Amino acid sequence: MAAKGDMVYAWTTDADLQSKAECGGAVTALLKYALESKAVDAVFAVQKGLDIYDAQPTLITDPKDLEKTAGSLHCGTLLLPKIIKKYLDGAKDKKIAVTVKGCDMMAMYELAKRGQINLDNILMIGVNCGGTVSPVMARKMIAEKFELDPDEVVKEEIDKGQFIVVMKDGTHKGISIDELEDEGYGRRSNCRRCLLKVPRQADIAAGNWGVIGDKAGKATFVEVCSQKGADLLTKAAAAGVVATEPANPKGIEIRGKVENAMLKLGNKWRDKDFTALGEGDERLKKILEETSRCIKCYSCIEACPICYCVDCSTKNPALVKPGQIPPGFMFHLIRFSHIADSCVNCGQCEELCAAEIPNALFMHAQQVELEKLFGHKPGVDMSLPVLALVEEATERKRLAATGSDQIYTNVFNPPPQ
Ligand code: FAD
Ligand code: SF4
Ligand code: SF4
Ligand code: SF4
Ligand code: SF4
Repeated sequence: MAAKGDMVYAWTTDADLQSKAECGGAVTALLKYALESKAVDAVFAVQKGLDIYDAQPTLITDPKDLEKTAGSLHCGTLLLPKIIKKYLDGAKDKKIAVTVKGCDMMAMYELAKRGQINLDNILMIGVNCGGTVSPVMARKMIAEKFELDPDEVVKEEIDKGQFIVVMKDGTHKGISIDELEDEGYGRRSNCRRCLLKVPRQADIAAGNWGVIGDKAGKATFVEVCSQKGADLLTKAAAAGVVATEPANPKGIEIRGKVENAMLKLGNKWRDKDFTALGEGDERLKKILEETSRCIKCYSCIEACPICYCVDCSTKNPALVKPGQIPPGFMFHLIRFSHIADSCVNCGQCEELCAAEIPNALFMHAQQVELEKLFGHKPGVDMSLPVLALVEEATERKRLAATGSDQIYTNVFNPPPQ
């Protein structure tokens, strides 16, 4: 009988699945059990597409298809919650199990507190996360630094601080992530600054850190983080689809040490990145310079989990002049003022920016300052952000009455009579 707080080694009892899984296959086995037992209507996870650089979100309703999602894709820089909000009706009336990295989990809470995702219908299976490499960077890094053909790589993994690639002919090559990052390659900049390595606000947090002894590489380290997670593990073990044993105490200690080392590294990157941005006028000047490349493609808004408004203020002609490229700085100021207190540093606004503007860095730097001022930590629970001080009832009424949640009005958007 599993309970919240338990730490166990868990592995699938299905040998075929084990051979495809990242380590113990517990994640896929638990997801499969959740679907088979009808605890959920669907599983939303990530599968390999054309190659290792092509991570695809996938909605699965047939348990047989789940094995396609086994394995970790370190070039998978997706953010699943915004897709659930946009295309799966925010899990309003479907129960969905989702594999979440730390940033997915944080985005889930931010969307839930804005009424865009029904958390009661979501089962979050968390995976520890040391970071992801953007597909573009991965190809560049493999060609330039590994001196290998990116199209010949069939598998990548991160092990003992190395990024390792396995080639079609079975040979492999690993280079330390520190070395790669010192030379400007490696993980996304937001991942380097990320301090959410073990997603403990999900229902379970699964990883490979701390699996030692004869189970090394063959079991998943599972930390049970909620009653929902405990129930799932208990029932799946009773049904015989996963086997478990208590985690080795030495393994628990090692896992704690690795997590702490990663947090230290994250703080180091924060210092480095934020110091390089400067302060006050100097920081503003850098942001103005970089954002002057903006082509107003709206990708940052489309992808950001905090942006969900029916009418976006950046499209209000009274605030941002239409047809002007680059848009006036107000375009970016609107985003800063609406999002900075809740930014979860997921990196989507930077990853998908057509003009390669370091948007996530700018927003994250401001979020950290606001957290110091107001103490609000986004993404870890349902506590409301600073901006929630607006009258929600009034806003909802406006939306119901006019179909618009736009507060500001102008000639193109006259006030309702
Ligand atoms: P499997 O049964 O193989 O299932 C893997 C699950 O991961 C699937 O549900 C799949 O949908 C999902 N998945 C794969 N790629 C992604 C992605 N890019 N984004 C979201 N979901 C994805 N563990 C650690 O202990 N330390 C780490 O530093 C660490 N870094 C990781 C980095 C990434 C990008 C990912 C995806 C995972 C990382 N993990 C890390 C977790 C570890 O790799 C395994 O996912 C975990 O141990 C579960 O193993 P399993 O065999 O039970 O998973
Ligand atoms: Fe992982 Fe954090 Fe990067 Fe998200 S932001 S992919 S949780 S390291
Ligand atoms: Fe993610 Fe960028 Fe939105 Fe922050 S502002 S939550 S980094 S998309
Ligand atoms: Fe994002 Fe602000 Fe636009 Fe809403 S109004 S979608 S928070 S930029
Ligand atoms: Fe501008 Fe980049 Fe946002 Fe597109 S994604 S609107 S180019 S900042």
